[in-house]
Amino acid sequence: MYDVIVVGARCAGAAVALLLARAGRKVLLLDRARFPSDTLSTLYIHQPGLARLERWGLLGEVLATGAPLLTQLSLNFPGARLTGPAPALGAITGGCAPRRYALDHLLVRAAVRAGAEFRPRTTVVDLRWEDGKVTGVRHGTPRGATTPEHAHLVIGADGRNSTVARLAHAPVVRQDPRSTRVYYSYWSGIPDRGVQIYTGHGVGAGCLPTQDGLTLVSVQVSRTTPVHDDRQRTYREMARRSSTELDRQLTEGKQEDRLYCCSDLPNFFRRPYGPGWALVGDAAHNKDPTPGRGITDAFIQAEMLTERLDFPLDDTQQADAALAKYAQQLSEEFTPAYESTLITARLDPSGYIHHLIDNQHDPVFAEHFFRSFSGIN
Ligand SMILES: Cc1cc2nc3c(=O)[nH]c(=O)nc-3n(C[C@H](O)[C@H](O)[C@H](O)COP(=O)(O)OP(=O)(O)OC[C@H]3O[C@@H](n4cnc5c(N)ncnc54)[C@H](O)[C@@H]3O)c2cc1C
Repeated sequence: MYDVIVVGARCAGAAVALLLARAGRKVLLLDRARFPSDTLSTLYIHQPGLARLERWGLLGEVLATGAPLLTQLSLNFPGARLTGPAPALGAITGGCAPRRYALDHLLVRAAVRAGAEFRPRTTVVDLRWEDGKVTGVRHGTPRGATTPEHAHLVIGADGRNSTVARLAHAPVVRQDPRSTRVYYSYWSGIPDRGVQIYTGHGVGAGCLPTQDGLTLVSVQVSRTTPVHDDRQRTYREMARRSSTELDRQLTEGKQEDRLYCCSDLPNFFRRPYGPGWALVGDAAHNKDPTPGRGITDAFIQAEMLTERLDFPLDDTQQADAALAKYAQQLSEEFTPAYESTLITARLDPSGYIHHLIDNQHDPVFAEHFFRSFSGIN
């Protein structure tokens, strides 16, 4: 019998397992993937996310991967450019873009060091129910057998297409149309100017220096913008359309990896709890990745959920009350950023571009804009 079974071991699940194990809980952490392994992501962690990693004693390990602290911001719009130092959050003076195979694995290792039991290549295929309450999971092994595991609480941290959410019948309480498609790859020979973001009409792009001297170059394309079937051609053409400056950098640089593409980018909130189960990370709330908030938000939600689980977990009434408060806080704290994400992901700056053009040289305006970009209140 475990206190908690966490399904999914990336930035939401591994963080939850780490925090619960450190609080003395008996935790089983399951993931169908092998680790270390990559996942689709443009990698960027904002200052509030790095502040969580620092609090958990892991920021040093993240920076030791070789992913640089990105202390300069350059946000570019048609006719307007805001550049300057990234806003500080306490001692955190920038964002960072570590590769996911490194970030997720170091979180898992920290959870295991804290006492969590981790089983990779283990797929959860069913939930166990008793008297209308989830009491565990059934997972399959690579050889095909299924095994039951029991726990007071099952936490689904299994991403936007969450199996736990589906099996628990977690309703979607808010849903908005998909906004963009994302294309990205890794480049050498791109000058390191910190975070470079380009927002055009119907397209956007970002340059994020990561590990091994490489830069992740992403292109976001509005779903209303026509694209070629040839994705590599779309990637280069849309980068050119985003910015001639970016196009020049790519012409002088070298694409070192294959192209990664993703169009399964839904915007929603699910009801994140029920009897014996809870959801965290993308399983609870997913949004377009254009502002790069998912990892940071997963860390914040991991703290939000685990801080509320400070009672004997077999106490059903206390669990219901604590999880209801978690759900309310999640909705209240993430709805404003979600709504601003829906606007950013339209990739249509025409409504605010004149304001940016008029104020781009005002350092107070730039500071305010950078704080909002970084999720610092
Ligand atoms: C193209 C793209 C670019 C993005 N760029 C950024 C960015 O720059 N910055 C940012 O902050 N966010 C970004 N995001 C969002 C970010 O990647 C997610 O918000 C984040 O990964 C959510 O973490 P998670 O742990 O909730 O889920 P996930 O990272 O999706 O992890 C879920 C885990 O659950 C496991 N799992 C699923 N089903 C099962 C099952 N049945 N049994 C066992 N295990 C299971 C999976 O194997 C996976 O390891 C991007 C997303 C995409 C798609």
